[in-house]
Amino acid sequence: MPRIELSKKNFFYNLDEIKKQTKSINKIALVLKDNAYGHGLIEIAKLANEYGVKKAVVRSDKEASEVEEYFDYILVLSDIPTIVSKKIHYTINDINNIHKFPIGSLVELKVDTGMGRNGISLSELDIAYESIEKQGLKLKAIFTHHACADELDGIYEEQKKSFLQLKQKAPKGLKFHSCNSAALFREDDFDEDMARVGIAAYGCLELSHELSDVIFKPVLSLYSTKISTRTLKKGESVGYSASYRSKNEESVSNYDIGYSDGFLRVLSNSYETPDKIKIAGRISMDNSSFLCNKEELLIFKDAREVAKCAKTISYEILTSLKSYIKREVV
Ligand SMILES: *Cc1c(COP(=O)(O)O)cnc(C)c1O
Repeated sequence: MPRIELSKKNFFYNLDEIKKQTKSINKIALVLKDNAYGHGLIEIAKLANEYGVKKAVVRSDKEASEVEEYFDYILVLSDIPTIVSKKIHYTINDINNIHKFPIGSLVELKVDTGMGRNGISLSELDIAYESIEKQGLKLKAIFTHHACADELDGIYEEQKKSFLQLKQKAPKGLKFHSCNSAALFREDDFDEDMARVGIAAYGCLELSHELSDVIFKPVLSLYSTKISTRTLKKGESVGYSASYRSKNEESVSNYDIGYSDGFLRVLSNSYETPDKIKIAGRISMDNSSFLCNKEELLIFKDAREVAKCAKTISYEILTSLKSYIKREVV
């Protein structure tokens, strides 16, 4: 079976860099949604707890209850609570949902400053404050999400300006947060109440030098074990559709990892491992072939490299990895 190694050293190194930027460990809200970006929800929650991170952000109520014991504060991004919790905050994403939250729920209002996805529009804010009060909810914070935090051009500055204006007019006593990883690291003097940091903690944030020079170290490495080896004669093919043909006599081995595990099929015939070992032919459901005969093969140690080959982002490479793959902290 494939297996995943998580580097505690690299994770803590990334958290050190994040802490320098937020200037306080209490301002780090570690994003653990989607199985901690494929790293393993419980594994990462435990490591974060060991480091001293107190805040977490998750997608669902289920994820929140699984990691509740490790944090003082949890923000749920897209679920409506069934019971009232003292530490779990829930996001209001739509003005029409406010009546669904149980009386006494701790809530945070997501405001759409330009993402155009979820959140209350700026013009609906006063009605939202009123509805929240009428429903008996405890509004704790207002937050927004950037559409272009990792881009030089784009609407980053406009969104920032809207959020600042909204802050000045908001009811007293609330907290504010707007930064994901990219926004946090492009700011020279971060001064919000917390930052919601995902990809930087996992070591795969990519920012142009104009925005930040901080280096991050990938936490997750993926390995796979050999099922079989054979020697190809010149011209023999490998795998479905016989799309790879050997140019010389060569050794090829089949490994127990495929697209069902999250090793994307688009990498077929083009991917090369960090040790420069080439893939041969199509990636199948549970198998892929490489031109080597190692017992265990390092598939990748930096999701950014895989993302480049697959023409996608590291987030997709990481979150594609199935939760049944064994995760081990080293
Ligand atoms: C996923 C997510 C984040 C984290 O983004 P990164 O780019 O991984 O740091 C922050 N805020 C919200 C609302 C998110 O959905």
